[in-house]
Amino acid sequence: MIAQVVVDVPSAQTDRLFDYEVPSRWQAFAKPGVRVIVPFGPRHIQGFVLSMATNTDLKKLKPLTEVLDPVPVLTEELLRLGKWMADSTVCFQITAFQAMLPAALKAKVTKELHLLVDKRKLPLPLQTLFADKTFCTWELAKEHLGRDLPLVGEALDAHLLSVTHKVKEQGSKKTEKRVRLAKNDLGDLLRQLPARAAKQKEVLAYIAKQGEAVPTKRVVEVLGTTRATIKPLLDKGLVVETKEEVYRDPMAGQTIERTEELLLTDKQSEVMTPILQAVGESRHEAMLLHGVTGSGKTEIYLQAIAAVLAKNQEAIVLVPEISLTPQMVTRFKARFGALVAVMHSGLSAGEKYDEWRKIHRKEVKVVVGARSAVFAPFTNVGLIIIDEEHETTYKQEEAPRYHTRDVALFRGEHHQAPVILGSATPSIESYARAKKGVYTLLSLTERVNARPLPDVEVVDMREELRYGNRSMFSSSLLEKLKGRIENGEQSVLFLNRRGYSTFVMCRDCGYVASCPHCDISYTYHRAGHSLKCHYCGDEQPMPNVCAECGSEHIRFFGSGTQKVEEELAKVLPEARVIRMDVDTTRKKGAHQRLLDTFGAGGADILLGTQMIAKGLDFPNITLVGVLAADTMLHIPDFRSAERTFQLLEQVAGRAGRDERSGEVVVQTYTPEHYSIQLVKDHNYEQFFATEMQTRKQGGYPPYYFMALVTISDTELPKVIQAAGKIADFFKTTFSEGTIVLGPVVSPIARIKDRYRYQCVIKYRHEPRLHEALTTIMQHYLRDSRNKQLQISMDVHPYFFM
Ligand code: ADP
Ligand code: ZN
Ligand code: ZN
Repeated sequence: MIAQVVVDVPSAQTDRLFDYEVPSRWQAFAKPGVRVIVPFGPRHIQGFVLSMATNTDLKKLKPLTEVLDPVPVLTEELLRLGKWMADSTVCFQITAFQAMLPAALKAKVTKELHLLVDKRKLPLPLQTLFADKTFCTWELAKEHLGRDLPLVGEALDAHLLSVTHKVKEQGSKKTEKRVRLAKNDLGDLLRQLPARAAKQKEVLAYIAKQGEAVPTKRVVEVLGTTRATIKPLLDKGLVVETKEEVYRDPMAGQTIERTEELLLTDKQSEVMTPILQAVGESRHEAMLLHGVTGSGKTEIYLQAIAAVLAKNQEAIVLVPEISLTPQMVTRFKARFGALVAVMHSGLSAGEKYDEWRKIHRKEVKVVVGARSAVFAPFTNVGLIIIDEEHETTYKQEEAPRYHTRDVALFRGEHHQAPVILGSATPSIESYARAKKGVYTLLSLTERVNARPLPDVEVVDMREELRYGNRSMFSSSLLEKLKGRIENGEQSVLFLNRRGYSTFVMCRDCGYVASCPHCDISYTYHRAGHSLKCHYCGDEQPMPNVCAECGSEHIRFFGSGTQKVEEELAKVLPEARVIRMDVDTTRKKGAHQRLLDTFGAGGADILLGTQMIAKGLDFPNITLVGVLAADTMLHIPDFRSAERTFQLLEQVAGRAGRDERSGEVVVQTYTPEHYSIQLVKDHNYEQFFATEMQTRKQGGYPPYYFMALVTISDTELPKVIQAAGKIADFFKTTFSEGTIVLGPVVSPIARIKDRYRYQCVIKYRHEPRLHEALTTIMQHYLRDSRNKQLQISMDVHPYFFM
């Protein structure tokens, strides 16, 4: 029996299968998809069995050390998906497989030295090492022995010691002690206790009343006693204590009221019909659900999932991390209760592991999660939903650089299940595909109960300045905020932080504090009064004087939410403000608490960043203000207009979700831009048409596909040389219609002391693309002279920095 293993060493040399013999004790478990520990050079490392074989070209096979899983963690489908992902995104296979599993499943292998003989037979240094134990870790031995370490080798050769490899799973299972009665006869048990043992009798009676094993901790708590009361009961054998595995429940302690299906509106029913058909017929179909905010898309998702559950199948619901708010999760839990698992980055590694295991063991049928939940190890998927499909966070920005949409479509096809892409502002690429008939287009153009979309006023901030208003609030916005407070209505103020940050600049000489390792300015963090580099994490205290000219006039610029809050306190002292940003939501549960407070009317204004743009559904919000609408417009990226329009529509969607209509004030320095003008009429169609023109002229997606190759090295000449050669290779390899741009310096020229160059490839049809990218990867990364050289390939890039 031979296991073919891909090992956990992401490199070009090791990106292939290695054969291992399967010792007889592991033969029952060695199957494709299990994790194994294998000897690899001098080390023992983790790997995945991809296939089993009966013969090999190798003369001598090493045996694998251990099989880690009784049941495969990767299904046949996920194994296929991993290979496809490695191919299509040009990454190593191991990188693709690792991305599909929770981090907690990554095993750490440690070596242990075991004493085989009486320790007096050991040389002196080893005797002291083993003075109080019969085994020790390799790490400890190295630390303890220092220069005497070779003695271990000699002792091993002389069979005085042996080495074992211990696998430590990082995700530990949480257990809880529970007690139950030794037999189902309380009366008899009570008789065995002395008359004065009142507290012990109380314990027995309490456990009997629960009718099942009770957490020992709860007995102690409820009865106000200590473990000392229970101990004699255990000793006498009247109660039995067991250790049981429990899940960490991120939503523990919250009771969620059940909701019933709503009666769909006519428009919703129209959209529902083809979805139910595809679900009923188990037919793979990609559908784009274009529904304005508040049109009842989520209710459609819920009812489609109900149909999937009725068929005893499973559903995957993907939402962007940022809109995976407790509010959103609650809507799914309220409908499907304990059948729902939730996965997002806010969970601890242990909690993630627990949610994953619920899916793996088929204890849940629905997963609601961010990007990586698309890999949920379900085996009978009946529906995949991607909400807010236009969100760029669906694209993973490190290897494997997959797009969640592509993975969802792969899995949908495998399971013959429909895939619904939902959005109020679909990505240009998806909408173009829907128009061509590649996706089925489903539209909800009105809000539920025909509530109007909010009125939008675009305010030209240059005009405001001309009239002498230097504040960050236009007179119109200020007026409206006042009115809302008087009427007891709520407002949302949105500050777009993407595109500019709070940087630190000298007012005298213009010096901007920037990271010495990356060509990027530091961001000011008020919490620690420090400067932080967002690329490498470097942190410095806020300087008192300019590093360049010594002036004391060094200040932070850019308006963070805190600055807005201070300004608000000046112009609207009566307003009660809740600020939501990374600083105020860092603590676990803070996000929910702030929202609860706002929902309960505890504030007039909710002020925040991206994190409040989505998913908020409070009936009392009748005004939304956008403080600086165009910050994103100036990012050098062909999608910046698209992102601006999408964000403004999302934010506008927070207003007037109830009976009272809503209003939106958009403040901008570029009011004439179509991405801002078209928000006035919420005219997605027109935006799409205009944007398609721009894309056509510029030769951008969806008219062209793109690929981005970034080359970096610690030595500048090496980067320039490699980038030049790579670009030449592309130019001579690709067909006529393909355009190779560059090499040029990347927009961020240096990150973590590495110089960066890039090439952009634009193509309509390039059969040799993958082959060429792989060739480059293999050629450069296999050559050990290129130790510092890194090449990253991004097929369908979303960020060009
Ligand atoms: P979207 O996801 O498109 O933004 P939602 O599903 O959140 O829209 O719906 C907006 C609001 O309308 C929610 O408060 C929801 O409960 C309500 N709603 C949705 N469908 C119906 C319906 N058929 N009847 C009554 N209310 C509905
Ligand atoms: Zn200065
Ligand atoms: Zn840095």
